[in-house]
Amino acid sequence: MSTALYSWSRLGVRTAAAAAGVEGEPTKLVFVVTKRCHSRCVYCDIWKVKDTPGGLDDELSLDEVRSFAAANSFLQWIDFTGGEPTDRPDFVEVVQAFAESCPDLLLVHFPTNGIATKRIEEMVNKLKATVQARIVVTVSIDGPPALNDQLRGIRNDFAHAVSTFAALRRVLGPEQLFVGMTLHGHKASCGLTTSELVEQTFTAVNDALRARQEEPIDWETFHLNIPHLSQHYYGNSASEAKDGFGGPEHRAEISAALRLAASKPKGGGWSAMRAIERIYRAEAMRYLATGKTSITCSALLSTSYLSEKGEVYPCTIWDKPLGNIRTTNYALMPIIAAARRDGVRRAVAESRCPNCWTPCEAYPAIGASPVRSLVALLQGS
Ligand code: SF4
Ligand code: SF4
Repeated sequence: MSTALYSWSRLGVRTAAAAAGVEGEPTKLVFVVTKRCHSRCVYCDIWKVKDTPGGLDDELSLDEVRSFAAANSFLQWIDFTGGEPTDRPDFVEVVQAFAESCPDLLLVHFPTNGIATKRIEEMVNKLKATVQARIVVTVSIDGPPALNDQLRGIRNDFAHAVSTFAALRRVLGPEQLFVGMTLHGHKASCGLTTSELVEQTFTAVNDALRARQEEPIDWETFHLNIPHLSQHYYGNSASEAKDGFGGPEHRAEISAALRLAASKPKGGGWSAMRAIERIYRAEAMRYLATGKTSITCSALLSTSYLSEKGEVYPCTIWDKPLGNIRTTNYALMPIIAAARRDGVRRAVAESRCPNCWTPCEAYPAIGASPVRSLVALLQGS
């Protein structure tokens, strides 16, 4: 059996075990590599961390990352996030540390604000040349040019992001690259419904690509995120908990936008990534309508979250610190095992957490609920 086939089989077996409730080692980690970020998004306070005295102190060093990777070689899927991951100068070495220590690593994903096209392209080229795992990147764009630049606080941000998307598509190919738009709903600032905003953003991205003699994208490449509050991650609980954020009108707007995207022609045939995207969208609509999904979150079962300072949390959203890897010789399992003993995993399974539907946790949860996911896929296709 080839190495890749063995690793995929291993992921399948471990995912099936998690689906059956076996509390083994997690397959997936969300790792905040840095809180550095040169965007100035209105709905996220991470960019302010670098301007806060001591805000960037104490981030895990490359040596510590290497120790962590070596101590947790069971990881097979890592979302490297930030801040802007590529604002960490040794980001390539950070990813390589996991590639070297985790023999069954299959999937590496990171989002990017797309501001520094040349640097991001160079980093992805290096990763492509040295890391065997599949590399998937999401470029963030939150509106047509003027609104996007206003929301993200950077002049020409839209143009930079589209340039980065085009450059990375040449490196990675179309299946491993997405545009990610978070549906904050800025009707007040632009007078458009969220659906109109989505439609105009999709059109603007394609106009910009065509102007560069680049192929347009289809709706399957255009990922729509439900916005969430998270004090320990985005630091946005206070700033966003206003103007009807998450209220009935906002939820209805987001739902309508997701329905719009689901109704669009599917351009690129079938792939696992596209199927997962359809399930995510179908369940997102259920979540917005009922506050629940049919798929149980797999936080602390098959996934976990590591902050830039070594603190472990169940996920991106729940502000519940569980312990620091600096106290366990960089091993994750003592912290996860203690959290399970303390009933934190049970609380997740019983939705006694903030109860969200964020892609970081939704995608592995989809894998761990094959039957429910198939039903959602059929409903969402
Ligand atoms: S949303 Fe992303 S790009 Fe914007 S400030 Fe936060 S970390 Fe930076
Ligand atoms: S449902 Fe959301 S808040 Fe609850 S553990 Fe999962 S990811 Fe975290």
